[in-house]
Amino acid sequence: MSDRYAVFGNPIAHSKSPAIHAAFAAQTRQSLHYDAILAPLDGFARAVADFVAAGGRGANVTVPFKEEAHRLATRLTPRAVRAGAVNTLSFDPEGIAGDNTDGAGLVRDIGDNLGFPLAGRRVLLLGAGGAARGAIGPLLDTGVAHLTIANRSAPRAHDLARLFAPHGDVEGCGLGEIAGRFDLLINATSASLAGEAIALPRGSYAPGALAYDMMYGARETPFLAAARQAGATRVADGLGMLVEQAAEAFLLWRGIRPQTASVLADLRARLAAP
Ligand code: NDP
Repeated sequence: MSDRYAVFGNPIAHSKSPAIHAAFAAQTRQSLHYDAILAPLDGFARAVADFVAAGGRGANVTVPFKEEAHRLATRLTPRAVRAGAVNTLSFDPEGIAGDNTDGAGLVRDIGDNLGFPLAGRRVLLLGAGGAARGAIGPLLDTGVAHLTIANRSAPRAHDLARLFAPHGDVEGCGLGEIAGRFDLLINATSASLAGEAIALPRGSYAPGALAYDMMYGARETPFLAAARQAGATRVADGLGMLVEQAAEAFLLWRGIRPQTASVLADLRARLAAP
């Protein structure tokens, strides 16, 4: 019998995680089975308990259950504590271990896949939700020079800046208060989901700046389209982050880091196919 893994979410039908983990398993010759499980909005803990009882070894967690997974875990990695959310669970006789691989996936995609070294950069992070919070610790760990967190509801950005102040040079502000030039501008809001771009002040993009949208899709996101118009020469969406956070989870579960380049290329081709 293959070891069982799954991703829990609601909705979950369009999740790419089963295809990504199947590709990792084939590439590393690991025997495992990975499903997508739709958990009821009020039934996440029950769905996970059923999966563990059926022999599940580990799980990924996506919208809207990452904070509930954080509460469900009986022990947490330091990066899951800092993120306040869990996207990766491992089940063992001692209980449920919770980790968060999203921020590591982001940093690996930007630093390695896109070849954009992070140390010393001035970074603007748009958003103060779960994805933004998970990214802050790993971004600061790379040695960025300065991080501005800007959010529609400014108090949430201020709260995050206060929380992470011991770990680096961080400030929080509202979207209307953004000032300065940035080398890296990351959209961690869900504005692109609504087809909206976030208006940034003229001159926000330093020469050679990278605009990165955590969202991805068949077409360029409104944030990236606006970035191009504003003069950004480098833009990237979050498909690489998705693959890299999965690779980090796979490493945790199986003790082997899969190669991501071919998996990302396949996924990109499938996304672009009509
Ligand atoms: P949350 O719901 O936790 O947070 C949403 C954030 O977006 C908040 O900061 C919210 O601001 C802001 N926001 C929502 N609508 C607008 C708008 N119209 N204008 C400006 N700001 C807005 O979502 P997540 O943090 O979980 O996810 C954010 C994005 O990141 C999503 O697009 C998601 O798909 C993507 N993501 C990608 C991953 C990947 O692997 N590529 C992994 C995880 C997430 P406010 O606080 O004011 O409400």
